[in-house]
Amino acid sequence: MNTDKERFAEMIRQSQRIVAFTGAGISTESGIPDFRSAGGMFDRLSGRHFSGEETLSIGFLETYPELFFRNYAEHFDFSQALPNAAHRFFAALEQTGKEVTVVTQNIDNLHQSAGSSAIIELHGNGTRWRTFDTAEPADATTIKMDAQGIQRDSQGRMVRPDIVLYGEMLDEEAMDHAAAAIGAADMLVVIGTSLAVYPAASFVHYFKGPYAVLLNRTTVPQSLSFQLAVQTDAGAFLADVWQEFFEK
Ligand code: NAD
Repeated sequence: MNTDKERFAEMIRQSQRIVAFTGAGISTESGIPDFRSAGGMFDRLSGRHFSGEETLSIGFLETYPELFFRNYAEHFDFSQALPNAAHRFFAALEQTGKEVTVVTQNIDNLHQSAGSSAIIELHGNGTRWRTFDTAEPADATTIKMDAQGIQRDSQGRMVRPDIVLYGEMLDEEAMDHAAAAIGAADMLVVIGTSLAVYPAASFVHYFKGPYAVLLNRTTVPQSLSFQLAVQTDAGAFLADVWQEFFEK
């Protein structure tokens, strides 16, 4: 009987257009906790506990900007993180002549660092910043926290990470591109996502091709039927697949 790795490698061989649909779990092996483990934050001053989702909402940023920036700096500092074997797998696959698109819910820039060239960011990118009022790009290297704990650019304007917060709309162009790429793919590899954050999670349903694969550490309740579902750590799994089946 074929192993999961053999079956996965064979599906890759049979496919020309491949979409990796990724979530926070693909980056845990790079040292970035996924969302469900973050657990939110407790503010000693107000004596309140805020859930992870609350701390990443536009309402929270508007109401408690200093708490938002404190939490963001604590949980979403990606500056030291490096791509792992799972990010590198899809970048390397491009080099074999496959048409690979990454549709990611992540904001950590690790697919970019790994070298993937076609990346659709459904939730923006947390390493980019923009001005709060006018949405102008802000140079991340010049941003400083003021005495009140508010992040400001060199002109003193409040800035924010260039990400989609809870309570905000996804970018329409990104959604259209994601739907088109997934709809045209022969193979969809869903990795490291609880498929619980909407509308992003609904995009997997655009897939009409023959091979849908799920690589996730835990079981995921979902309505898409996968030809192959492997409960695994994606980086370790894909490192083995690459070495065993694709490395020259
Ligand atoms: P999630 O936290 O809801 O789910 C992560 C899933 O990945 C879980 O099912 C977990 O079992 C699985 N997982 C953890 N480590 C894994 C591994 N090594 N290999 C395979 N699976 C693994 O994540 P989500 O569905 O992406 O939703 C969270 C939201 O928060 C997203 O919208 C995302 O934008 C954001 N977020 C992003 C980052 C990041 O950019 N790295 C980190 C945290 C949260």
